[in-house]
Amino acid sequence: MHREPNRIIPIRLGSAYCFYLPSPNGAVLIDAGGQNKEHHLRSVLTVHEHDIRDIQYIILTHTHHDHVGSLAEIKRSAGAKVFVHKDESAFLKRGRTPLPKGTLLGTKTMVSIGKMLRIGSYPAVEADFVISDELQLSEFDYSLHIISTPGHTAGSLTIIVDDDVAFVGDTMFNIRPDTVYPPFANDEAALLSSWNRLLKTSCRLFYPGHGKPIERAKLERSYEKAIKHVK
Ligand SMILES: [Zn+2]
Ligand SMILES: [Zn+2]
Repeated sequence: MHREPNRIIPIRLGSAYCFYLPSPNGAVLIDAGGQNKEHHLRSVLTVHEHDIRDIQYIILTHTHHDHVGSLAEIKRSAGAKVFVHKDESAFLKRGRTPLPKGTLLGTKTMVSIGKMLRIGSYPAVEADFVISDELQLSEFDYSLHIISTPGHTAGSLTIIVDDDVAFVGDTMFNIRPDTVYPPFANDEAALLSSWNRLLKTSCRLFYPGHGKPIERAKLERSYEKAIKHVK
């Protein structure tokens, strides 16, 4: 049965969204935003009559600094366990994830400048659970299916809730009207295979880390367009 949309609380922490999924026996947080945002998360949750200490699990779509900047602080305040893909647990432990490759001329330049400025560091965290391909969790009043969707990074994960909505991290960006193609991706062929994997699920809505939720039809159109260009 479809989840009530008000049971997903999107919270923008810096440039990226994190998502709070409440349930009577504990909440799940997907991603942890940019740095120094723990206080903001706490105040938004209070407005919604939730408490940061209800968070049991923090599941990371990947470990770029804009998604894990406040992870150390949030983990500490919540007493939560952190889940990450095995290919990114070492980055998380050292507090630095390499910047992704640009997929457009403008973003290629941005990445070169970012590398010179050594952007990409954040407070280090040791993960509690490391995922290799997929994982099913059923202790909350919704089902969680975590699957590997490499492309943006090798360890990118998608979290599917009730076989209906997916949290895709930076596997899609909804910042352009014509496509959800990400401006950054380490492996574009792998990215399109991951989109294909997601289109084979029954999900109707995809929540990216940047931009508004994406309807399945927009992903389908973007996929058809992109497969013509990416080899
Ligand atoms: Zn990213
Ligand atoms: Zn991002």
